[in-house]
Amino acid sequence: MRFVEHEKLNTCVHCGLCLAACPTYLELGTETDSPRGRIHLLRALEDGALQPTPAVVRHLDLCLGCRACEPACPSGVPYGSLIEAARPFVERHRPWVRRLARRALAAVLTTRAIRMVAVGPLRLVGGRQVVGRLAARLSSRWLALAAAVPREPNGSPLPATIDPPGPPRATAALVTGCVAESLFSATNRATAGLLVRAGVRVLVPPRQGCCGALALHLGAAERARALARKAAYALAATGADWVVSNAAGCGAVLRDYGHLLPDDPHAVGVARRARDALELLAELGLPPAERPLEARVAVHDPCHLAHAQGVRSAPRDLLAAIPGIRLVELEEHDTCCGSAGTYNLTEPAMADRLLARKIERIAASGADVVAAANPGCLLQIRAGLIARRLQVAVEHPIDLLARAHRVA
Ligand code: SF4
Ligand code: SF4
Repeated sequence: MRFVEHEKLNTCVHCGLCLAACPTYLELGTETDSPRGRIHLLRALEDGALQPTPAVVRHLDLCLGCRACEPACPSGVPYGSLIEAARPFVERHRPWVRRLARRALAAVLTTRAIRMVAVGPLRLVGGRQVVGRLAARLSSRWLALAAAVPREPNGSPLPATIDPPGPPRATAALVTGCVAESLFSATNRATAGLLVRAGVRVLVPPRQGCCGALALHLGAAERARALARKAAYALAATGADWVVSNAAGCGAVLRDYGHLLPDDPHAVGVARRARDALELLAELGLPPAERPLEARVAVHDPCHLAHAQGVRSAPRDLLAAIPGIRLVELEEHDTCCGSAGTYNLTEPAMADRLLARKIERIAASGADVVAAANPGCLLQIRAGLIARRLQVAVEHPIDLLARAHRVA
């Protein structure tokens, strides 16, 4: 059927070493819900030995795309690109009603005007204790997710250029994101402030839009490519040394722009210069924090930061340098929380199982703050804690750093 490269499929030697890293295999224990099993399914679909029946599609849909199987694989199977190539193929074999619903979701999430209208009512209930209590009493995951939305209104947009006090050591184009821009604009402002504190000139290109990550998760490959092309053009036009994102999901896709749009020089350039904000700040170094933060902090590693971008030590190193912060161990710190792009919206049952697993481990860690460098993880873990009535804060490491460094 030729929807995925045979050469990549054939790198799997069926050793099974990836199985223990796969969240859906850990939960279900079935081969067809493991990386090795899914690779078998893809190969059989490719060879025409299998048809994309609802059961086959189900096993592929249940894959989080978390890429935890990649670092576990000794043969270097590029599993992320395999499942990404399979998504549009799977999309074509869904009942049209489901296909339409997924397209509508992609449109809502990636179109600014529609997203802002959708976010309005969420802001009314977000962060309110009464909604959280109701969510816990009714065991409603949707109410818990709504209560997890940050309460602060969006501040004024960032200026196009923010200069450090002295001569800049380099320039960074800031990716403001789509969901991040709508719900976590304070984190974007904090990212800009910290980069400036590290001596970097920050450029915020207008009309960059969505990077395409959420559309890719939903199998809307053409929409993802169109969004990526537009974002790449806006980001490349700044001529910045780095393209910086604070959302793990966006950062992973930006690094992959060269594969997504191999013929687009802007996209290829952006992929080369894409950096995660925490990774870059750890590398540049920050002056000493201006105030201590007394907290026991557990670090949750977002899949698209740890597995897809290989950024693991930067959040810990930066947080450990803040006086008063004590890092505590979090079991399964790099196992998916169930957020996974749009997974917690399209696969709520498995997302809830993985969230329950994560919340158990957070409760056992004794942390009073969980640090998670991805908007989706922040909302998902907050919702899980609200539903369990656990008094643990969930914050982006950038926001903790901004407070310690007194950065607006
Ligand atoms: S991407 Fe994640 S859920 Fe999918 S097979 Fe790999 S480890 Fe399992
Ligand atoms: S994906 Fe890698 S680890 Fe998993 S079975 Fe294939 S070769 Fe082994």
